[in-house]
Amino acid sequence: MDKMRQFSFKMQNSIARFMYGRCGFDSLARACYGLAILFLVINIFVHNSIVSLISMAFLGYSLFRILSRNITKRYAENQKFLAAMRKPKSALNYMGMKWRDRKTSRYYTCSKCHQHIRVPKGKGKIEITCPKCKDTFIKRT
Ligand SMILES: [Zn+2]
Repeated sequence: MDKMRQFSFKMQNSIARFMYGRCGFDSLARACYGLAILFLVINIFVHNSIVSLISMAFLGYSLFRILSRNITKRYAENQKFLAAMRKPKSALNYMGMKWRDRKTSRYYTCSKCHQHIRVPKGKGKIEITCPKCKDTFIKRT
């Protein structure tokens, strides 16, 4: 039992030493890893060599990131990736909110500042004031 513990301690230690100064599992690596798994699963059904190649490419790139020693460069790439994902993420979030409240509310986008405004449904024609820029417009809800 003691030997087992010693062994696992040694293993953890050597993994930590191996990973020291390397980039590790950042968001971009995680996304690539997820895509690799996704294409791997797709390949179970389609048995396509291109699909399996794409999966391997994502897996390889994810590994390359995790083991990379050029942390500054990988960090910059990860920040770029996060910035690029911000818009689609919020658009998806907005669509989810619209779907969730489809029975009780309607969403409008302010034409001036593009702020999303939620108003209760079924109130007829109402004047909506944008909470951000105070612009008003009339909509039927
Ligand atoms: Zn506005």
